[in-house]
Amino acid sequence: SGVAYSEVRRPCRLMLLVNPNSGRGQAMSLFATHVQRMLTEAAVTHTLVITEHQNHARELVREADLSQWDALVILSGDGLFFEVVNGLMEREDWEEAIQTPLGILPGGSGNALAASVNHYSGAPALLGEELLVSCGFLLCKGLLCPLDLVSVHLSSGQRLFSFLSLAWGFVADVDIESERYRQAGAVRFLLGTLVRLASLRVYRGRLAFLPAHQEGRTGEKEGESTRGAPASSPALSSSSSSPVSSSPVTSPPDSPNSSFCSSMSCGPTECSSTLRDSSISQDTHGELGFENFVHNNHTTVPPNNSTLHNASNNAIKLLQAAAQSRPLAKGPPDALLPPLEEPVPASWTQVQEEGFILVLAMYQSHLAEDLMAAPEARSQDGCIHLYYVLEGVSRAALLRLFLAMEKGGHMACGCPQLVYRQVRALRLEPLTPQGAITVDGEQVECGAVQAQIHGGLARLVTG
Ligand code: ADP
Ligand code: MG
Repeated sequence: SGVAYSEVRRPCRLMLLVNPNSGRGQAMSLFATHVQRMLTEAAVTHTLVITEHQNHARELVREADLSQWDALVILSGDGLFFEVVNGLMEREDWEEAIQTPLGILPGGSGNALAASVNHYSGAPALLGEELLVSCGFLLCKGLLCPLDLVSVHLSSGQRLFSFLSLAWGFVADVDIESERYRQAGAVRFLLGTLVRLASLRVYRGRLAFLPAHQEGRTGEKEGESTRGAPASSPALSSSSSSPVSSSPVTSPPDSPNSSFCSSMSCGPTECSSTLRDSSISQDTHGELGFENFVHNNHTTVPPNNSTLHNASNNAIKLLQAAAQSRPLAKGPPDALLPPLEEPVPASWTQVQEEGFILVLAMYQSHLAEDLMAAPEARSQDGCIHLYYVLEGVSRAALLRLFLAMEKGGHMACGCPQLVYRQVRALRLEPLTPQGAITVDGEQVECGAVQAQIHGGLARLVTG
């Protein structure tokens, strides 16, 4: 059977990190109404850590004694999960630290990872508190699966680790602009999409990538792409029948109706062989290092002022990040990536077009609770699912794509400007200044960016 920390040890100890400002500022009440009792009934010992500011969680896990914890669980949106992943990767002992099981409970407005985990489990699509309850059950079940991380290099030399998405153009702008609709909760992305559709832009840039399935394909020429029109186009059928060699798991990809663990591209036995029980500590008697941050009671939730001055807030955030001289993320070498100043290798595909509506690299199935942007993606498939939409698409066609995306049907929309490729690495060089880049929904500096996937670098509680 699959390895579950709940099978390995009871009671287990979770550090439950909550961002009280996430979403509509409701994470603490979600904890009180749903999560607390569920964990208590499942005999899961947990310590609540309420973050006090941005990057608080990142700093905490960077310094934490991880032997105290069987899992780090995030009750927030994807932003807090991003902090935890990067905090772990900034440690000297990153290789061991990043194997700490990570769990996600949706408490923010952008709950893409939680929606993905729910989807991988075979559960029907759920929203809001129903999604939270489903993820709570999966957490208590405690099955683990490897989680791919993508190493992202920015033009300043900064390196980040990403678990969800890299976006430029339309999607990135919606992500950032929709911050002002935060009080609307998850609906903020729909509002943002409609607003941005009304003022559609073309973003100029150069995009290149390393295809994931080069060897297995015959007749693939440089620049050839898979258009959105036929659902059974050659690259798609090829990609769904050839295993991904960089993934730590080598069994063939899933069939749609297979059970949970095999839907993660691995049978139960293989799953357990890729998991490392050794990081599950037997020592239960150490002191917690976080007394100052631990709140056992429901505390006053600070007012959510995120509706104010979002543009200037974003600029301030960027400046603060630069000024903090954060330790550089460590991690495995990116063997697929040449220096950003050098041209990409000949084995890469250079997209000929330079006018884009959006570029979206996904490594989980969901971009938001109600957007299944990459239906084929699994947490450990070793693949970046790269979508881009070229200029020339009409507003109506783009709206149709986003509506179809709720159920993952966008590739069947017959949109010739939509291209889907499975890749291992990519480089994007924006040629025009406007157009933000987001990594896991968080804005990063503009400029050239490149990335490569590392199969199964982390571990995710998937249930
Ligand atoms: P949401 O899905 O609602 O955006 P996130 O978890 O993504 O929720 O958090 C939003 C942002 O808030 C992230 O950039 C995160 O780093 C930051 N953050 C984390 N803790 C706090 C805090 N206590 N106060 C303010 N911002 C925080
Ligand atoms: Mg967020």
